[in-house]
Amino acid sequence: MKKIITVFLVLFMLGAVYADKAPKYGDQEVAVGRQNVEEIAKNYKFSEDPVLIERVNRIGSELAKVANENKFPATYGSDVLTPFNYEFRVIDADDVNAFSVMGGYIYVYKGMIDFCESDDELAGVMAHEVIHAAHHHLVHLIDEQTKFNTQALVAIMVGILASKGRADTVASVATMSNLYQIAMLNGYSQDAERDADNGAFLLIQKTKYNPVGLLTPLERLAQSSELVDLGIYRSHPVNRERVLRMRKRLKDANIPIDRGAVSGRIKYEIKDETKAEIKVKSLYLDNKLILSIPIGDNEQSAIDRLNNIYSVINKAISSNVEVFDIKCDNEAVIIKGQRVFTPIEEEASVTGLSVKDCVKNCYNILRTFLLKRDSSIIV
Ligand SMILES: [Zn+2]
Repeated sequence: MKKIITVFLVLFMLGAVYADKAPKYGDQEVAVGRQNVEEIAKNYKFSEDPVLIERVNRIGSELAKVANENKFPATYGSDVLTPFNYEFRVIDADDVNAFSVMGGYIYVYKGMIDFCESDDELAGVMAHEVIHAAHHHLVHLIDEQTKFNTQALVAIMVGILASKGRADTVASVATMSNLYQIAMLNGYSQDAERDADNGAFLLIQKTKYNPVGLLTPLERLAQSSELVDLGIYRSHPVNRERVLRMRKRLKDANIPIDRGAVSGRIKYEIKDETKAEIKVKSLYLDNKLILSIPIGDNEQSAIDRLNNIYSVINKAISSNVEVFDIKCDNEAVIIKGQRVFTPIEEEASVTGLSVKDCVKNCYNILRTFLLKRDSSIIV
């Protein structure tokens, strides 16, 4: 019963949205956007992490400046230049998603920030959202409201409630941001998404960020069926076509597709453990044990050494390294001729290994990581 009431309530709200005339670009658009901002504030929890907030605002303000000063040709919506006071917020949830409402209000989920492996990637995702706003995509969607019919809306609502019934989805379905979802099901989104990708590509080239950062998140999202199953990035469907088009834009602009420059960060963790009855600090790369160091009386020096090993390996891996660039001898893992991992006997023996086997183990983990990374970029 509750569900049925919700369906009617949401349909009523949608009806109210659709009955309105599309706002004009500029002040009207911002006014509608502000209403949505208030509604979103009631339904979402925002992050209070100062590091995340600073990062998103810093990148966002750079993008906003370029978007307000330049006209990028629109293939959907309109490229009438209407400077906005862009605002950026971090939603405290794990969804790998981002969205914007009209008037320049951009929302990035914490899950998306975690998913991005560099500022270049995050800037790419955010530039896509900025273009949705700058090119007035939502105003354009409302303009085309007559193409939607009640039957389709009922089907959509039932679909949303039946599939997940997630409270946040239902509660926010009447916000403008969800017009994208509705549009997607009606076959509109391809044009809006293509324009947002294309505009973002032009915008990013006027910033310090690497345009390859627009491609790599799309490749990972398109590749990962696990993420797709969770309904992730659902307001911006990632498909093969978006990936191929982004590759073509880069190629046509003679921008080398150096994925290592923007992605490929290897996950790491330092854990407190006990091995052979000795307290150790252990470094895990990609969830696999690399090295355990007996803490002794200087815990900080063990942590520093492990952090250092991580940063040297990560730097080497990030510099566009290929599987065949990694080698090892009896004492060290060598990447492009540089010795990046040289355990001493005391460290190796705590896990019951010789230095040679400890090196070999690290070598195998790095090779596996690179093979996995390289296979994930073939979409
Ligand atoms: Zn989009």
